[in-house]
Amino acid sequence: MSSISGAERTPLTPAQSISVSAVLEARMQLGQKSLSFEFFPPREGSEESLWRTFDSIMQLNTDFVSVTYGAGGSSQDKSLAVLEHMAGQVLTVGHLTCVGASRASTAIAVKNFEDVGVKSILALRGDSPKDQPNALSQGELKTALDVVDLVHELTSLEVGVAAFPEGHPESPDLFHDSKVLNLKQAAGATYAITQLFFGAGHYTRMVDLAAQAGATMPIIPGLMPVSNAKQLLRMASMSGAAVPDFLAEKLSSADEATARKIGMDFTIQLGRDLLDQGAPGLHIFTLNKADAALELATGVGLV
Ligand code: FAD
Repeated sequence: MSSISGAERTPLTPAQSISVSAVLEARMQLGQKSLSFEFFPPREGSEESLWRTFDSIMQLNTDFVSVTYGAGGSSQDKSLAVLEHMAGQVLTVGHLTCVGASRASTAIAVKNFEDVGVKSILALRGDSPKDQPNALSQGELKTALDVVDLVHELTSLEVGVAAFPEGHPESPDLFHDSKVLNLKQAAGATYAITQLFFGAGHYTRMVDLAAQAGATMPIIPGLMPVSNAKQLLRMASMSGAAVPDFLAEKLSSADEATARKIGMDFTIQLGRDLLDQGAPGLHIFTLNKADAALELATGVGLV
């Protein structure tokens, strides 16, 4: 299928794939959009699903992948093993949170990432885990900005950050978020990836506000394939994203197969709208499952 931008997505050269910023620049020059995927370190016994999904997306001219990080460093060893395997095959972004962590342990994590071939770090704060409600106040690094600074102090790795089209749940408003994004850019972040959200208007408004605040770095929408109604409602409530009433109603009264179809159709349309409205590419949250991620990548026209 041809891409929505009217140009086939061709493989990038190694020089075009040295960083997320280089990928986005190359895709823009080619009149194309980037395609990337997020994974999480697998729980015991679910490794096969992760690697099957990874192998499938590697057939798609995937520009880069990212691997999440357990807040509090809970899955650090597993993250490293996964990062090392992926980084041998494709540009790999390591998420790194600082909640509850010391400066020294975060510095070690940065070094470990670099040693296994990670080229870019998504600098995040994270949230206090349920079983450590005071982690945020106890950690030495308090915000993602501290992680951006630390990575730059220690390495020349590229740094990206999170963005929140519907506002971060702790922020007073979107203007505040825009100013924070601008501070992160000033500290050296060169791209952002968004939290999941359910309307293209949220994204375009956030990009406009960020630019007004001076944050002009590319912002890649994060898109979750809605293939399971229960999972969607849970993820939305965890992230603070509002599921539109019409979608929630349709999903709640549908059987499993119909809910999957409604959800996938909705997400594919959202992805297409985002690309049409200027998003530089899409970052698909795979949840380590191949089918829905591939269906979404194909449906939006990036495959
Ligand atoms: P921060 O930038 O520190 O922001 C947190 C709050 O503090 C915001 O309200 C912000 O406005 C405010 N703030 C920050 N700096 C300042 C400042 N200088 N002045 C005033 N206010 C400030 N979590 C994980 O545990 N592991 C992951 O792998 C992970 N991956 C993610 C990937 C993406 C793409 C996204 C969008 C989120 C991810 N998260 C992950 C969740 C993220 O850690 C949480 O959303 C967290 O609550 C905020 O992270 P942050 O990096 O935006 O934090």
